[in-house]
Amino acid sequence: MNANKYPIERRYIDKRPNVRPGIRLVTGSPAFFVAHDTGNPGASADNHWTYFQRQTDRTASAQVFIDDRKILEIIPAGTGADPAEQAYHVIRNIKADNELYGYDANHAALGIELCYGGSINFDQAYKRFVWYLALCCSKWGKTPSTHIASHRQLDPARKRDCDQALAAGGVTLKQLIADITAELAVPVPIAPAPAKLPADVRDHVIVSYIQSAWLASFQAGEREEADHYSRLADNVRAAAAGEKLPKSNAQEIIFNWLSPAWHKAKANGLDPSRYNVMANALRTSAGIPLA
Ligand SMILES: [Zn+2]
Repeated sequence: MNANKYPIERRYIDKRPNVRPGIRLVTGSPAFFVAHDTGNPGASADNHWTYFQRQTDRTASAQVFIDDRKILEIIPAGTGADPAEQAYHVIRNIKADNELYGYDANHAALGIELCYGGSINFDQAYKRFVWYLALCCSKWGKTPSTHIASHRQLDPARKRDCDQALAAGGVTLKQLIADITAELAVPVPIAPAPAKLPADVRDHVIVSYIQSAWLASFQAGEREEADHYSRLADNVRAAAAGEKLPKSNAQEIIFNWLSPAWHKAKANGLDPSRYNVMANALRTSAGIPLA
């Protein structure tokens, strides 16, 4: 999966016995994940930070709040440098968590809350919720279908989340699990291993493009421009000798010359594929993922 798709904001509420006891999970890292919704339509992740920061008369909390704009960890969840801490998101005296996982959810699981309703864009919040749960499964080697429970599944007599918030967006819990599984399978964008720029690409780029651009700017008295093209040619020669081509150089050559040449060839009924080949050779030399 793509572990860098969304940023995670970590802004922790103060340690206090009723919301953030400051105790590590008994399992060290999270053993499973409880999918909640806030039950508070229209309230954002930041709103919940404020609420729990000020909460003094009630024992309740969760580690993570996700809305359409951010993923906010208000208690350490272990996805970053700070080890996961306990929160109070599932009532103690139910049995399902112990039977399924061998622990009370509060001692061993992360509580992950979907913010919904009001002006919160469901699709954007849902995408972040899916991605965050996938990230957790990926990080700790868990399986979505067996290691994610909705709060309702653990406490059906009292709770309807996160199923009720999902339903508001037309999604079932089953679909959520399927989407998390699919998110885990998204390939990581991998930059190709740098390779030497082929000599024929070097020659074509220098002779057909850079030399004429250099000459035009030299004749126009544009010394800085001409110097730029000299350096560009030097870098392209170095790339053919095994140096890494600067990314900006590859992008400039593709944007200014190869892409227009591709369009021109296509418009004239010619095969433009050689321009793709050259562009990919430049990308590879610069360590840019292939288009
Ligand atoms: Zn809940």
